[in-house]
Amino acid sequence: MKPKRDLKDSFRTFENMKFRSITIHPKVRDTEIAKRLGGTAAVGPGPGLSDYRQGKRHLFATPKRGELFHVCASLDPRYVCCSTHVVSQISNCPFECTYCFLQNYLTDTTLTVVADTRAIIREIMQKTSEQPWRLFRIGTWELGDSLAVPPLNEAAIGLVREFRNLDNCILKLRTKGSAVEPLLDVDHQGKTVVSWTVNPPEIIRGEEIGTAPLEERLRAMELVSRAGYPVGLHFDPMILFKGWEKAYRKLVRSIFSAIGPENCIWISIGSLRFNPEMKKKIENNYPFSRITAQEMVLGDDNKLRYLRPVREEMYSFLLQCIKEVGCGECFTYLCMERWNVWEKVFGRSPFSIGHLDYLMARSVHERFPETAKKAPEKKLYLSLRYG
Ligand code: SF4
Repeated sequence: MKPKRDLKDSFRTFENMKFRSITIHPKVRDTEIAKRLGGTAAVGPGPGLSDYRQGKRHLFATPKRGELFHVCASLDPRYVCCSTHVVSQISNCPFECTYCFLQNYLTDTTLTVVADTRAIIREIMQKTSEQPWRLFRIGTWELGDSLAVPPLNEAAIGLVREFRNLDNCILKLRTKGSAVEPLLDVDHQGKTVVSWTVNPPEIIRGEEIGTAPLEERLRAMELVSRAGYPVGLHFDPMILFKGWEKAYRKLVRSIFSAIGPENCIWISIGSLRFNPEMKKKIENNYPFSRITAQEMVLGDDNKLRYLRPVREEMYSFLLQCIKEVGCGECFTYLCMERWNVWEKVFGRSPFSIGHLDYLMARSVHERFPETAKKAPEKKLYLSLRYG
C-alpha cells in the first residue's frame, strides 16, 4: 500500500520567484517585511516603473502614504453590490491573468507592498470604530493577489494576528496561488477568511498565467480548512468556452471533495467583464487569448459582459452544481449584477445593498459564530446609504 502523502510535500516552491530588483524605502527598513526581504535589497525610493509587465518583476516595500481603507471601488448603486471593504496594501501582482484590470489601471506598476502593518491597522481601527455594530469584511486583494509572493506573506500574517482583536472586522485574503504554509500555524481565531478565485484547469492554463494549477489550489484549501480558517470561493470571472458546463461541474465537485460545505463561508459568482479600452489592451498583450471573441454588451457601468440570458444560464447552472454537492446552505451571491438577474437565478433578491450586507453578516454569525460573535441588527444595515 502506498504511504499517505503529506500535503505539505507537494507544494511548488515560490521562494525562488525571481525579481530583477528589490527596494526597501528607508522609513520601513526595520519592519518585519523588510527583514524578510533580506540583505540583497537596495534601500531607496523605489524604481517608479510604468510598464505593466516590467513592474511585476520589481519589488518595493514602502511606508503607508494616505488612506488605504475604503469601500470596494467597483461599488455602484445601480447594481447589487456586496459592499466589501478593501485595504490597498499590495499593488500589482507577479501573475498574469489575461483579463486582469490592472493592465489598464496602474500608473506606477512596481509590485509594491505597504510594509508598516501597524499604520494600516490604526487606520482600520479608527474607521471601523465609527460603526461598531457593523461587520466589516476587509480584503487585501483590490490591486493584487493577497498571497502571491511568499516573502510578502509576512504582511498577510501581520494582519491575521491584528484582526484577532478587531471584533467587528473579518480579514479576507484572496489568491490564485497556493503558498499558504506560513499561515497554518498562526493563531487566527477564525477572524481571517482565506479565499480562492477558481476556474477550470482549461482556463487556468490558458488565461491565468503563472498562477497555481487547480490541484495545488485544492491542496492549499484543504490545508487552511484543516487549520480552522473559513474558506471563501469566487467563481469569478466565469468564462465561456466549449464544454464549460462539464468543466465547471467538475470544478465544483473537486473543490467540495477537498473541503466540506461547513468550511465554506461564502461563494461569489460573476462573469467576465471589462471596459472597452481594456478589450484592446487584452488583444495587444495576449494575442493568443480568445476571451474577447464572445458576443458582449456594454452595461451602464461601461463594462462589457456576456448577454444577459447567457449570464443567467451560466449562474443558474453553477448554482445547480453547488446544490448538487450539498452546498446549498453556503451563502452564495452574484458580483456586479442587477436585481433582475438575481431574481432569475435565485428566485429572489436583496432589496438594497445594505440588505445584502445584513444577509451576509447574519449568515456569518449563524454559521461561523467565532468569526462574527454578535448578531447583526437589520435596521442598522438597512439605514446604510450608497451613491
Ligand atoms: S491574480 Fe488577480 S491581480 Fe494577479 S494578475 Fe490575476 S487578476 Fe490580476
